[in-house]
Amino acid sequence: MEIVTSVVEMQQRVLAARADGQRIAFVPTMGYLHQGHLSLLEEGRKRGDLLVLSIFVNPTQFGQGEDFEDYPRDLQRDSELAAETGVDVIFAPTAGDMYPKGYASYVDVEGITETLCGASRPGHFRGVTTVVCKLFNIVQPHVALFGNKDFQQLAVIRRMTLDLNLPIEIVGLPIFRESDGLAMSSRNVYLSPEQRRQALVLSQALQAGRRLVAAGERDVEQISAELTRMIDAEPETRIDYIQICHQHSLENQERVDVDSVLLLAVHVGKTRLIDNGFLWPES
Ligand code: AMP
Repeated sequence: MEIVTSVVEMQQRVLAARADGQRIAFVPTMGYLHQGHLSLLEEGRKRGDLLVLSIFVNPTQFGQGEDFEDYPRDLQRDSELAAETGVDVIFAPTAGDMYPKGYASYVDVEGITETLCGASRPGHFRGVTTVVCKLFNIVQPHVALFGNKDFQQLAVIRRMTLDLNLPIEIVGLPIFRESDGLAMSSRNVYLSPEQRRQALVLSQALQAGRRLVAAGERDVEQISAELTRMIDAEPETRIDYIQICHQHSLENQERVDVDSVLLLAVHVGKTRLIDNGFLWPES
């Protein structure tokens, strides 16, 4: 497995692979790999001849006072996990190489970036779309794989790819969870044992929402009120949002239907966690 840090070198590497007729599969991440990331890499391994993993904690997607400095990093451990999973190339650029002096260009997707995480984290998606667009231009993949864990991010990337005619297949994969239901996240390491227990309420709320819908409840206000009570009952939680939206438009719904997704963002102590899932029975 190779580790490439230079943008130009990475572009040369993929151009050679493309000239050789290889299909390039790409998994962009911020590193500190867990099984959720590895599930994307395993699928990428099946879908490409050259599997590229990027590891870059992207400064432009973090707001003031967010955890950019504290975000966990361990390239050594990530490299070992990546090699075991069959990654061919890790692209781990420096911030200086990605955003050199004088950098002034950004990608902005309108509309669906303005709600949910976009409302709580102004500028976040502008940073995400900018870095993903840059990474696409550097790695030039045929296929790129993302997790449904970041449901809105995936919708935004699909929108950008379509709108900017990027010749890349975007694949979304299921949320990988701990055995007790907690969605895997690099940020879970911030949680104390007691907070880790309380964090379970996100996936439990999702299950409770599904049970309510399975029992015939369709009223979004009723469901949200019930789940809000449930989450608020844990002392260290603070709800950022709890919304039921149409899976494609991400617009709020009043009645649950087959396209309804429950999206949650909850602070547990200082850690902001997200989770989501479809509400319709057997979806
Ligand atoms: P991150 O390193 O957190 O920016 O995530 C990189 C990619 O991994 C994104 O496409 C995420 O949606 C995906 N991902 C993160 N956590 C999970 C998970 N628990 N299950 C599946 N995919 C995930």
